[in-house]
Amino acid sequence: MTGYDYIIVGAGTSGCVLAERLSADPHCRVLLLEAGKDDTDIRVRLPLAARHLWVHPGFNWGYVSEPEPHADNRRIAVPRGKIVGGSSSINGMLYTRGHPSDFDQWRQMGCTGWSYDDVLPIYKRLETDWRGAGPYHGGAGPMHIARARTMEALVAPLREAARKAGFPSTDDHQGASPEGYGVPDLNIAHGKRASAASVFLKPARRRANFTLEIHAQTTRLIIENGRAVGVEYVQNGSVKRVHAAREIILAGGVYNSPQLLMLSGIGPADELARHNIKVACDLPGVGKNLQDHAGVGVDMTCTEPVAFERELRADRLTLSVLRWALTGTGAAASMPVICNGFIRTRPELDRPDIQTLFTASSPFARVWFPGLRTGIGHRFASRSVLLHPESRGHVALASSDPLAKPRIFFNLLATQTDRVTLRNSIRTTRAVFAEDPFAALCGIELAPGRDIHSDDDIDAYVRRTVTTAFHGVGTCKMGIDDRAVVDPQLRVRGIDGLRVADASIMPTITGGNTHAPALMIGAKAAELVLGSTS
Ligand SMILES: Cc1cc2nc3c(=O)[nH]c(=O)nc-3n(C[C@H](O)[C@H](O)[C@H](O)COP(=O)(O)OP(=O)(O)OC[C@H]3O[C@@H](n4cnc5c(N)ncnc54)[C@H](O)[C@@H]3O)c2cc1C
Repeated sequence: MTGYDYIIVGAGTSGCVLAERLSADPHCRVLLLEAGKDDTDIRVRLPLAARHLWVHPGFNWGYVSEPEPHADNRRIAVPRGKIVGGSSSINGMLYTRGHPSDFDQWRQMGCTGWSYDDVLPIYKRLETDWRGAGPYHGGAGPMHIARARTMEALVAPLREAARKAGFPSTDDHQGASPEGYGVPDLNIAHGKRASAASVFLKPARRRANFTLEIHAQTTRLIIENGRAVGVEYVQNGSVKRVHAAREIILAGGVYNSPQLLMLSGIGPADELARHNIKVACDLPGVGKNLQDHAGVGVDMTCTEPVAFERELRADRLTLSVLRWALTGTGAAASMPVICNGFIRTRPELDRPDIQTLFTASSPFARVWFPGLRTGIGHRFASRSVLLHPESRGHVALASSDPLAKPRIFFNLLATQTDRVTLRNSIRTTRAVFAEDPFAALCGIELAPGRDIHSDDDIDAYVRRTVTTAFHGVGTCKMGIDDRAVVDPQLRVRGIDGLRVADASIMPTITGGNTHAPALMIGAKAAELVLGSTS
């Protein structure tokens, strides 16, 4: 098959869902172009390997930010999946949809069709939740949502301490009470990572009307008379051109979708002029409005041998991986994330402003074996992120070379509210750790450290250590204002035959991990595309 109706750029989280939905109609010829490799490596399936994939160049675009002016001019690592499945093939598998009011906010900003009531049925159709079907959950969708493996010796005292510190508990962050401390949901099915590719692309790949090209990096859109009619891509050193009879949909993610638009002459005219790119459409919002969840942590030693350190002894770990391979169970079949808290640092807020994740392990944990290599000891760690940052960054071109990495300016902690909220997140975590019965498990505070208490000292610690949760969104913002890149049907303003459907379209970041919203965006995009052709 040489001709296509739809070309989707990027086999990532949103792109896989979209490709599956469009190709379900045997009359639609769908081409999916992916710059990365196929997702056949067993480590992609192994939940415990996730952290290893974040830093592995073989799975990753390996971006890094520009020096961050409010974070001691540090450059911050920006992992992104460069593989079939995109970031859903390497991410932490935490499954959260966002707070209902996040979507109502989109609706209030003019994004008709994106309120919580609009998107809830889409989420439900996507999911099979471990709780079963209900008013908030799907029971028959392709994406399996599991409960994280609990480590009760830590979790029960932690939730009790949180309650004493004034923070509620919840058993369902996606249900009627999204606020509070609870056991996380993970997109893991039968002990294996449930990525957008394993769940959605697998069935599509069997269809005659569907083509997936890997190692195929789209370098430019072909635009004729104000309409996107095709794309140019590089595969194994050759430049190829392909045309779409109906539409082209960009799903390259928050950094690459705006980059590709700008490379094709769609973006801020001044930015394009800087790189001698001919303007096809002056869209000032392209690349702007970058948002991510800025975060910092508290690391502690644990007084009892109840943390994940035990599992990291080389022989135990080997057996865990073998057990996982044979049965899909055991310590390797999950992540050591034990508790997830969505909390308000100020009671007057109408939704949580902080998410704190607790792991029964330290970011510095390593495999150990007696006599050969020491471990780091029993530790646990928390990491708190700003759910609704005020600060905005942007993505710019480094050059007109399509293979050059884009420039990423997060501009984290640019506002006083962001700085104060993150400072308060350290204080709320410490308040929880100080309450019984969890206090008895807390040994030495390794970070920020016992001496760091004043506002100034905590702020300095935050500047020294802040990173992001890898939840970048917003650079091809959906909306109806001058800065919008796409309209609420996800059509690029000013160019026909072109949409964007990935995390970049979020006008404001959701208050939670962004993988589930990206899946929802892919499914919603399919409805919009098919609705407009029927
Ligand atoms: C390390 C890490 C950990 C994370 N942990 C979590 C978590 O635990 N829970 C959670 O909810 N979220 C998490 N996230 C965030 C979440 O995974 C992303 O928000 C979501 O996957 C974004 O989906 P997307 O479709 O916008 O982009 P992606 O999934 O990144 O997909 C973009 C795809 O497009 C391809 N592509 C890009 N440019 C081109 C081009 N020019 N030509 C062809 N192909 C191209 C890419 O290779 C990629 O496959 C994490 C992200 C990372 C990176």
